[in-house]
Amino acid sequence: MEKVIPINTSQNAVKSAADRPPKNQLSHQLISDKNQLRLHQRLQGSLDVGSLINHFFVWLSEQQPLGSVEYVYPDDDISLISGSLRVHKAHYTLRLQKRYLGDLTISSQKRFSEQDLFVHEQSIGCLAHYLKNALDFRAMEKMAFYDALTGVMNRKSLDELLPKETKRAERHGYDLSVMMIDIDNFKIINDRVGHIGGDQILKHASKAIRQVLRISDLPFRFGGDEFVLLLPNTDLVGARSAAKQIMASLGNSAVEINNHSITPRVSIGLASYRHGEHHEELIRRSDQALYDAKKNGRNCISLFFLR
Ligand code: GH3
Ligand code: MG
Repeated sequence: MEKVIPINTSQNAVKSAADRPPKNQLSHQLISDKNQLRLHQRLQGSLDVGSLINHFFVWLSEQQPLGSVEYVYPDDDISLISGSLRVHKAHYTLRLQKRYLGDLTISSQKRFSEQDLFVHEQSIGCLAHYLKNALDFRAMEKMAFYDALTGVMNRKSLDELLPKETKRAERHGYDLSVMMIDIDNFKIINDRVGHIGGDQILKHASKAIRQVLRISDLPFRFGGDEFVLLLPNTDLVGARSAAKQIMASLGNSAVEINNHSITPRVSIGLASYRHGEHHEELIRRSDQALYDAKKNGRNCISLFFLR
């Protein structure tokens, strides 16, 4: 393992390794085997980054006065804090075999002693191994359930979440709408800007869709140039309003690719869950509404009513 490097502290107390007393002089003050074992036991139970940071915080606060442990891993948009931020801070960049694993900031109301800083270094070395596993697990989960190109969930996730969402709507009696979105004439766009340019359009469309969504809405890439949105607590009127916003957001922003200015248009089909209906029927009806939108000339919204 590469050394975990303390970068700076607000109390300006971190010295280079040469400044410190030899470790054997401090060894009686460092983490006891029993405490180290306890740390391993707490950390090995979880592959969740948030739980690891929390366990680490609890363990460290048993060793020394502690305000907070903050962990940031920008590569995966992770930013977590356990405890309350205090004035004295020690900052560490975590690396394991040259791999960057994020940044950790430990804060305290009290100045950190040399002994405190040694405890940090030793325990962070242990934490880094578990963090690496948790980050790898997150990446694997992402690959399995998210679309690599657009970052929204994939078809497999939809297959898992749709029955759950319909059951929930059934149980609690709230509305659930499905929005099916398909880019118009995407084959022509691909022909004009190439497949890689087409990929850029797909990313642009998914971003425009996500900007409009509420926190509880669930976006999926259904395949090709088609997206599905599950909108809990939303009736057909609300879903149509969201669909209009998506069309407006796309219509207002052109993408410049290889000297082409592309403003993708979409057709949208909407259906709302009917009491007792099978989730596959709900998808079928939103697909039917999308088909109608295409048939009606594209760049429009179609709603599935009773027929
Ligand atoms: P319509 O208006 O009827 O939807 O016409 P369309 O040309 O968009 O036809 P359709 O939706 O059936 O075609 C989708 C096209 O999307 C076909 C395929 O070549 C292209 N496609 C599928 N996946 C990808 C991808 O990941 N990247 C790119 N660039 N193109 C893709
Ligand atoms: Mg299409």
